[in-house]
Amino acid sequence: MMYSFLLKNFLLPFGDKFLGGGLPKKIKELQGLTRLSAVELKSLQNQKLGKVLQYAILHSPYYQALDISPSADPEEFLSKFPILDKQTVRDKIDQLITKKSLDGLQAVMSSGSTGPPSKVYFNKEEMAATRAVQLTWWSWAGYEYGNSILQTGVNLNRSREKRIKDIFFRTKYIEALKHHEDEMLKELHDLRKKPKDHYVAYASSLYLFAKTALDHGLSDIRFKSVISLGEKLLPNFREAIEQAFHCKVYDTYGSSEGLMVASQCSHGSYHIMTPHVYLEVVDENGNEVGPGEMGRVLLTGLDNYTTPLIRYEIGDLAIKSKKTTCDCGMELPMLEEVLGRTTEFLKTPQNKYITVQTVVRVLKFFPEVEQFTLIQKTENSFQLQYISKEQLDECSQQKIKESFETLYKESFLFDFQQVELLPRSKSGKFQLIINEVHENV
Ligand SMILES: [Zn+2]
Repeated sequence: MMYSFLLKNFLLPFGDKFLGGGLPKKIKELQGLTRLSAVELKSLQNQKLGKVLQYAILHSPYYQALDISPSADPEEFLSKFPILDKQTVRDKIDQLITKKSLDGLQAVMSSGSTGPPSKVYFNKEEMAATRAVQLTWWSWAGYEYGNSILQTGVNLNRSREKRIKDIFFRTKYIEALKHHEDEMLKELHDLRKKPKDHYVAYASSLYLFAKTALDHGLSDIRFKSVISLGEKLLPNFREAIEQAFHCKVYDTYGSSEGLMVASQCSHGSYHIMTPHVYLEVVDENGNEVGPGEMGRVLLTGLDNYTTPLIRYEIGDLAIKSKKTTCDCGMELPMLEEVLGRTTEFLKTPQNKYITVQTVVRVLKFFPEVEQFTLIQKTENSFQLQYISKEQLDECSQQKIKESFETLYKESFLFDFQQVELLPRSKSGKFQLIINEVHENV
C-alpha cells in the first residue's frame, strides 16, 4: 500500500508536471461526476454539448463553412449538424481542426476495423481527459493505485510517454502482434511465477491467451479482473477468459479516435460516459431510435476542442438500454448491447494468429491501398482485395507480402485483386479479414 500512497500523492502529480494535461485533477473530478444524479448528469452533458458545438462553428473552418445557426437548446443545436463520416475525417482533417499549428498536439491514429486508418489531433488536456475516463473505468473493475497490470497490445513503437506511464502504473507491456503460441506460453509461465493484479488487452488477445492457458492445462493463473478493449467481446471469449483466469471480465467500449463511450460496472451494465461523450443511436435516415431498438452509433466528443467530432459515425451498431437504474448505484445511462463489431482471425500455416489489428498495422504503411479485405483462401494462401486509384505494381505487391513474411517469419502465397467494391457483412459493414478456411478458431 506504500506504493499506492506514493503513486497517488507524489508520482502522479510529478508525472503530470512532466507530461502536462492535469490528469490527477481530472480523475478526481470525473469520479465525482459519475456519482451525480441522472438529472444532474443530463444537465452537465447538455452544458458541455452546447459549449463544444459553439466552439466548433466559431473555430473549425469545416463547421464554419456549413453555416449552422446556434440554438439555445443544445440538443436542437446538435440536430442541425450533419453526420460526420470517417471518409470526411480522413479527407478534411486540416479543415476540421481548430488550431492553426500542430505544435504541441498529439496525433491519434485510428486502427479501427471499419476501413483505412484516420488521424485526429488532441492537446495535452484532451489526452488527459481520455486517460482519466480509462482510469475511472479501471476503478470500476477493482483497480487501485499501485496494482500491477499486464497489458498486451499491437503497438510497434511504444512512445516515451507511454513507457513512463508503464513504470508509474506498474504495467508490463507485451507486444502481442503475432500471438505466437510459444511466446504466449512463455508469458503464461512467467505469470505463474510473477502474478499480476489485472490484465488489460484487446478482446482477441485476451481470448488467445486464455485459450492457450486452457489448452495447456495452466489452471493456476489468476487476476483480480480482466479489462477488455478495442473489439467486441464475444460471449465465447468472455466465457473462456473467465474460466482461464478465474475472474470477471470488464468490457469497455471506445472508438479508436479516443472517444471513450461506455464500460461495464461491477453489476455488468454498460454505463455510458455522458460527461465525456454524447451518444445517439439512429436509424437509416439519421432519426433517433428508442431504447431497445438497434441503430447506428453517432458520437459527439464533449472534451474534443482541437478536433471537434460531432455526430461522428464510427461504424458500430448499438442498442440503448430501457433500464434506468443499476444496482451499482450509478445513474449514468446504459447501453444494452454493442453489435456489429466482429472479431475474426486468420491463421498462418505454422499456427500463428493474424488478427484484424495486425493487418491494419501492416497496411497502414501502404497508403495507396485505400480500402481492403484480406481473405484466407487456403492454409497457405491469402488474397488481398483492395480499392485503390491505381493497380498496385509488382514492387508494392512484393513489399506487402514481405511485410507479412518478415513479421511472421514464414512464407505465404499472396495474390492481389483490385476491386470496385469490397465484400460486406450482413450488417453492411466492411470486413477487413475473412477466413474461408477455419470455421472456428
Ligand atoms: Zn451499474
